[in-house]
Amino acid sequence: MSADATPAPAVARTAGHIRLTSHTGGLDAPPIVWGAATAAERGPVIGTTTTRAHRNVIGTHSGSYGVYRALAVAAGALSRQHRADLTNTSPTDLIGPHPQWADPDAIVSIDPWGATVADAFGDQIAAGYDIRPTIAVTKAHVILPEIADAIARGRLRPDGRFLLDGGAALVTKAAIEPVWYLPGVARRFGCTETDLRRALFEETGGMYPELVTRSDLEVFLPPIGGQTLYVFGSPADLSNPDVELTARVHDECNGSDVFGSDICTCRPYLTHAIEECILGAQRGGVGLVAYSRKEGRALGEVTKFLVYNARKRQLGGDTADQYFARTECVAGVQDMRFQELMPDVLHWLGIRTIHRLVSMSNMKYDAIVGSGIDVGVRVNIPDDLIPADARVEIDAKTAAGYFTPGPVPDADELKKAKGRGLDA
Ligand SMILES: [Zn+2]
Repeated sequence: MSADATPAPAVARTAGHIRLTSHTGGLDAPPIVWGAATAAERGPVIGTTTTRAHRNVIGTHSGSYGVYRALAVAAGALSRQHRADLTNTSPTDLIGPHPQWADPDAIVSIDPWGATVADAFGDQIAAGYDIRPTIAVTKAHVILPEIADAIARGRLRPDGRFLLDGGAALVTKAAIEPVWYLPGVARRFGCTETDLRRALFEETGGMYPELVTRSDLEVFLPPIGGQTLYVFGSPADLSNPDVELTARVHDECNGSDVFGSDICTCRPYLTHAIEECILGAQRGGVGLVAYSRKEGRALGEVTKFLVYNARKRQLGGDTADQYFARTECVAGVQDMRFQELMPDVLHWLGIRTIHRLVSMSNMKYDAIVGSGIDVGVRVNIPDDLIPADARVEIDAKTAAGYFTPGPVPDADELKKAKGRGLDA
């Protein structure tokens, strides 16, 4: 290839001086007063990468997808100056404001005003500030084979309102990106803000120097996955404690949720919860599934698959008594999900009572109740929905304190190899 045919290096398109964010860019950034009662007093969250003087947060928008945006800029496919045209993008359903929004400690990992920035901060957007939504709310039909099966077996009945004849359930859904108020996050985890900032800086390989150089910036847009809400029935009913609320807080498990792996109960639990949510809506209540991107107990799939191999190759086979130990050997902890931030989304929705919580996790239950939300009945997965290979997981969890209305397996039971081998 001749020198003439060589494309210009992609970096040339963004050449010029490097825009450091580690020192204040000026005095044009509106202040953020976390937990203020109105959007105007709270102020907009501005993570723009183009006008440094406007930035009032650490990090940038879109969670982990911010890295793909950087690739698009590097490849010359995206203009750094692009501004979102928010015409017709406003939420299909208005959420809040709820009293919890005005409590700086009730919500520390979501921007409660994130869905309505185009309205709440219209003047600043018109004045040239790049203010982006961190929440989007829309409508959808969700169609799952398990729901069609429940209809065929007579457990669910289409009503033309919440569930259509073809098996589609009607939902309102919301996508939420993380927005962390660092002082509040530190309080949740019982550490100092300084220690939190330092760990975030060092454990990401120094990705965000402002964590340690800009103590004046208290809000961080972390490069992690967010969450998605699915509401069955009217979202306005979620904050009314007199309307029966059926809810599941589900942590992502791509292997089961999407690809149907039978080593765990994630998808059966999720579809069971959706069935319960539809039934609840048909009873005059409302249903909620809050889905968090915390793959493999927030350890990620590589760690998860390493653990599967370690479980199935260990002496004596895959047993419940070694279930948590095998994870800890590989990952250093049994679980990295830390449910401390999870209730934020429930408070964003104004929830005060969950009448039926579809979950066996004691960690989720403790976090929800500890945050001041009442929980009525705990609904566990029916035994006939548990795949045979997932018996190891269920036995280990119930023995460790997860909720079960049935017997808790004893030490002898936990030693029995119940999981399939790798070659089976
Ligand atoms: Zn799973």
